[in-house]
Amino acid sequence: MDRTDFLKTLALLPLTVAGMKLNYLHKVSDSLEKSDEMPVLFLGHGSPMNAIEENEFVRGFRQVGTSIPKPSAIICISAHWETKGTYVTAMDHPKTIHDFGGFPKELFEVEYPAPGDPGLARETKELVKKTQVGLDEKWGLDHGAWSVIKHLYPKADVPVIQMSIDYTQPAQYHYDLAKELSSLRKKGMLIIGSGNMVHNLGMLAWDRLQDSEYGYDWALEASTKMKQYILNGDFKPLINFRNQGRAFDLAIPTPEHYLPLIYALGLKGEKEKISLFNDKALAGSLTMTSLKIDAV
Ligand code: ZN
Repeated sequence: MDRTDFLKTLALLPLTVAGMKLNYLHKVSDSLEKSDEMPVLFLGHGSPMNAIEENEFVRGFRQVGTSIPKPSAIICISAHWETKGTYVTAMDHPKTIHDFGGFPKELFEVEYPAPGDPGLARETKELVKKTQVGLDEKWGLDHGAWSVIKHLYPKADVPVIQMSIDYTQPAQYHYDLAKELSSLRKKGMLIIGSGNMVHNLGMLAWDRLQDSEYGYDWALEASTKMKQYILNGDFKPLINFRNQGRAFDLAIPTPEHYLPLIYALGLKGEKEKISLFNDKALAGSLTMTSLKIDAV
């Protein structure tokens, strides 16, 4: 190779290297995207006392927290934030909201100082085309979020935003809206629905709150059917939950604890697998059944 040829080759080299590099990076990012796609969780939160008690459900939350990659942020759809229209919390430091009454002082003293993520809130707003998502500066973290997330990330070192449940909308709206969030999973975001599949506080056997093997017949019937539909990937009857008969009507007297499940199901990819945990009925009319959707 003479000098001119050598120089020509040299001149081409950076391009080739750059091209290779781009190609390589592309492949790496492909594989990263795949392996980094976060799972989705639905957590049956039950009593706020789970925030401070030690029991099998808390151990289940903790275990699931250690079984998944640490997220860069969390988006939580909690049963306890219902609004007209859909909002996301957009403050830097969401306050811990003690949105319950009649519990011990110790529970009111719990603080969960996870930071917010205003950037993620704006990104979520821009991502969703189905509806206008509002940025909220007033809410914070309600107990549907912090009472469970604190077991997953006790150091409160993962930013959390909440997305509200628009109470004027049917389940299909929530299912479709969830689908619009799915790309965030590839960016390291953990999306958590927090509610309870079977949740009828009016019929709760308060004297059997500690009895995690006790469900009324209708509660067990609804729970069994829900789980069958979930594990078979047959979500239509779950979206049309008002047409499923008496057991479902009793299990879901109001939809706010059930709809976070619909968000989780909306995020399930076609080939993804769902696994159940904390799958117990409690105090007659409540199930703690939780699920994890694993990326493939
Ligand atoms: Zn609740």
